[in-house]
Amino acid sequence: MNNAVLQFDDIDKYFGETHVLKDITLNIDTSEVCVIVGPSGSGKSTLLRCANRLEEIQNGEIRLDGQSISAVDADVNRLRQRIGMVFQSFNLFPHKTALENVTLAPRKVKNLPDKEATQRAENLLDEVGLLEQSSSYPNQLSGGQKQRVAIARALAMEPKIMLFDEVTSALDPELVGEVLGVMRDLAGDGMTMMVVTHEMGFAREVGDRVVLMADGRIVESASPTSFFENPSTTRGKQFLSKLL
Ligand code: ADP
Ligand code: MG
Repeated sequence: MNNAVLQFDDIDKYFGETHVLKDITLNIDTSEVCVIVGPSGSGKSTLLRCANRLEEIQNGEIRLDGQSISAVDADVNRLRQRIGMVFQSFNLFPHKTALENVTLAPRKVKNLPDKEATQRAENLLDEVGLLEQSSSYPNQLSGGQKQRVAIARALAMEPKIMLFDEVTSALDPELVGEVLGVMRDLAGDGMTMMVVTHEMGFAREVGDRVVLMADGRIVESASPTSFFENPSTTRGKQFLSKLL
């Protein structure tokens, strides 16, 4: 049975002459938390961006729930609505409150009535522990709070999968935990997730699978236990030895 939510089939991505994703095949199953690790420049962000079609691929195919994302005639806007993405940099709308940030897309894109959009947003802000900050503007929030609003905003579109690209990398260390906690809860609720992170504790405890990328390739894909305790490749061993 094919349970994959997101499928990358033999994809290649070039920036000009530079081959940045090399023959990537990866399936993300329903409710799976797939953690992507690897050195800077290995192609992690590009892989996530291709999934959302923020970048075009040159070979292969990407499918969401079996439907091609990468086909020329794919309904990109519709597919994008079903993929939530949160980035390293806080990209909230600065002149909108936390609540307005979360209600905006459901109202504009899904034509959800104000009352319903507000109700949904309040539930989500409550889930990420920020109901009391509903009327705060981004500049009144800490980095950790902004990222939690960004997660709530992505969830408001009821995505099939959430993509996280180093969402805690720009945070002060004391704020990392609150964001990882929200992601952990989300995983516990069965959300399908692809998480690029340097937080190895999270990878180990929350990940169902760790995928190591190096130089545009997937070099290792394993359960967290076998990846961290007994990496099967030299690249895996090297990567782990640098963490110490
Ligand atoms: P990672 O997220 O693992 O650090 P990236 O996906 O950002 O890696 O980058 C992979 C490679 O693609 C790097 O060599 C990077 O320089 C290159 N790259 C990324 N974005 C662009 C771009 N817009 N134009 C040209 N090269 C890019
Ligand atoms: Mg990156």
